[in-house]
Amino acid sequence: MAHKLPALPYDFNALEPNIDAETMMIHHDRHHQAYVNNLNAGLEAYPEQQEMSALELMVNFDSLPEGLKPAVQKQGGGHVNHSMFWTIMSPDGGGEPGGLLASEINDAFGSFDEFKAAFKAAAGGVFGSGWAWLVVNSDGKLAITATANQDNPVFTEGSLPILGLDVWEHAYYLKYQNKRPDYIEAFFNVINWDQVGKYLAMIRVGEGVVAMQDWAAEKKAMLQDFLGSLTD
Ligand code: MN
Repeated sequence: MAHKLPALPYDFNALEPNIDAETMMIHHDRHHQAYVNNLNAGLEAYPEQQEMSALELMVNFDSLPEGLKPAVQKQGGGHVNHSMFWTIMSPDGGGEPGGLLASEINDAFGSFDEFKAAFKAAAGGVFGSGWAWLVVNSDGKLAITATANQDNPVFTEGSLPILGLDVWEHAYYLKYQNKRPDYIEAFFNVINWDQVGKYLAMIRVGEGVVAMQDWAAEKKAMLQDFLGSLTD
């Protein structure tokens, strides 16, 4: 089973002027495609693991053959992270979240504006290539974190991402050059809060089901529920 590039859920120019069409085309059709291609290439010598989904590869990382791990961490991570990234942006995005997500953001950060300031600081503070994330941490609370390269917080700290911002230069350099803070501000104009809220709701439903069980063990199943449909 070869891994495949998921379709972008809107046109390349749909996020203009916040994110330009050329960046979206190169980012999706070339960079994300390269992660998919390189993941498939990395799997060529491992027929057993070729049957696993990208997410299965990631959640079973510790038991993978050592020679396969770099491809899964880098290329598999790139595939999963970008597959989520496309879904949490929308031409109808921006503004502020509502419902459960809004109340949890207020509880965790004090207000939406305080959350936004903290997220912008985290994204601006990534040295080199990486991501900033809004996650449900292992205590079950919303938190902001950052990862290097294509690492996903489920592995670096055992938290579940519901929003991720790609701050690799390939994500913004054509339009914003060295002005990463401007890109981060523009990202807030296209965040699909409805989708982020859906990811949070899926985690909360899962927590109710497994409340008396080991959260750390069950988080993999939850991740599979809400990210599994994004990748093959
Ligand atoms: Mn990227």
